[in-house]
Amino acid sequence: MSETIFSKIIAGEIPADKLYEDEHCIAINDINPQAPVHVLVIPKQSIAKLSDAAATDQALLGHLLLSVAKVAEQLGIADGYRVIINNGAGGGQTVFHLHLHILGGHTMSEGMA
Ligand code: AMP
Repeated sequence: MSETIFSKIIAGEIPADKLYEDEHCIAINDINPQAPVHVLVIPKQSIAKLSDAAATDQALLGHLLLSVAKVAEQLGIADGYRVIINNGAGGGQTVFHLHLHILGGHTMSEGMA
């Protein structure tokens, strides 16, 4: 597994704005926010992209979604936010270490973009 900016953040080699951490994941502020609240939930275990996840990752994937809800609650946006996973270069993924975007802080439009 090649190193990414996120594996370096998890290893403590690069500083980040850490909002949440547990045994399996961290949540950090996105460096280039696309909404008033833009947080990334990142598993400590390095999976390059969602489509690389295996059946053995089922519990981790569930944990990530539950962590999204926990972090959204902590940030006071539990009433309305969007969760995005970009999968692969064609899906707009630029960092190849699985992560979930939480976008919120204003009313999200109905479109997916
Ligand atoms: P994606 O396009 O889904 O791979 O998203 C990668 C996200 O990581 C982008 O929204 C970037 O702004 C964000 N990002 C890149 N480097 C950092 C960093 N050092 N700290 C926080 N967020 C970052």
